[in-house]
Amino acid sequence: TAQIIDGKQLSGQIREEIKQRAAKLVAQGVKPGLAVVLVGEDPASKVYVGSKEKACQAMGFYSEVHRLPADTTQQQLLSLVELLNAQSSIHGILVQLPLPKHLDEKAVTNAIDPKKDVDGFHPISTGNLVIGDESLVPCTPAGCIALIKQTGQSIEGKHAVVIGRSNIVGKPVAMLLLQENATVTVCHSRTTNMEELARSADILVVAIGRPKAIGKSYVKPGAIVIDVGINRLDNGKLAGDVDYDDVLDTAGYITPVPGGVGPMTITMLLANTLKAAARMNGIEE
Ligand code: NAD
Repeated sequence: TAQIIDGKQLSGQIREEIKQRAAKLVAQGVKPGLAVVLVGEDPASKVYVGSKEKACQAMGFYSEVHRLPADTTQQQLLSLVELLNAQSSIHGILVQLPLPKHLDEKAVTNAIDPKKDVDGFHPISTGNLVIGDESLVPCTPAGCIALIKQTGQSIEGKHAVVIGRSNIVGKPVAMLLLQENATVTVCHSRTTNMEELARSADILVVAIGRPKAIGKSYVKPGAIVIDVGINRLDNGKLAGDVDYDDVLDTAGYITPVPGGVGPMTITMLLANTLKAAARMNGIEE
């Protein structure tokens, strides 16, 4: 039966390190600062923003949350982003997505100073990731890599299959795996022989947003399975995209939902904020 990769535990460990590094920065006169912008009343977004604020405070960061009404105009939102770009106490800016329909997410993402782009969604960050230059890496994908490394297994030379090709998870995960010298296959809704491809994966990362869609017929015995999915079931419980119980005896390592990738996302956001603060002040960490 598979070994469980404990995202909560790894998260706690990394946050402890971040806290210590933050204290060192503070001693050098730099307090890492994160600004989170929330527009409207999306219940899930409210919860995420609250967690991000709490996590910052626990690290000794400076944090600001800007809660704007649902009818905020594009111009008002862009003005706030400009203000935060210019504010020296802020090293990271995160605009919580999704935005209300009348707002242009792309324009808002592109308005964030790439140096403060702690979500890693700006085209400059994406470009740097593809080229392999230093950049702020999207948080959930960075968390996936940290979880894979936590198994102690090497990534180099392995066949990694990513199911899902979204800009926020699938594509950046694939790029990071490539950077780690894996051989990478990306599957998506139009892939014809997905089961066969997945079954040849030493490392399988699933990010499709379909509860329990991936069972053991997709899993090579002993494979590392990273389940990014967070799906709310009718009974109120959370489920991943992987059918955990079905896969448990086949996989070598697996992340649970909740308690796998989820906790790592905010941890990587904290890491990015720290990194941005150090860099902006010319401090080598
Ligand atoms: P998305 O809807 O933007 O993209 C889904 C991708 O999966 C698409 O590229 C699509 O082609 C592919 N896909 C859909 N159905 C498929 C199928 N049956 N077979 C193969 N490919 C299929 O989703 P996303 O934003 O990438 O998120 C994916 C999941 O990860 C969701 O459950 C989301 O809630 C979760 N998520 C979790 C975190 C976190 O842990 N913090 C962060 C982001 C997303």
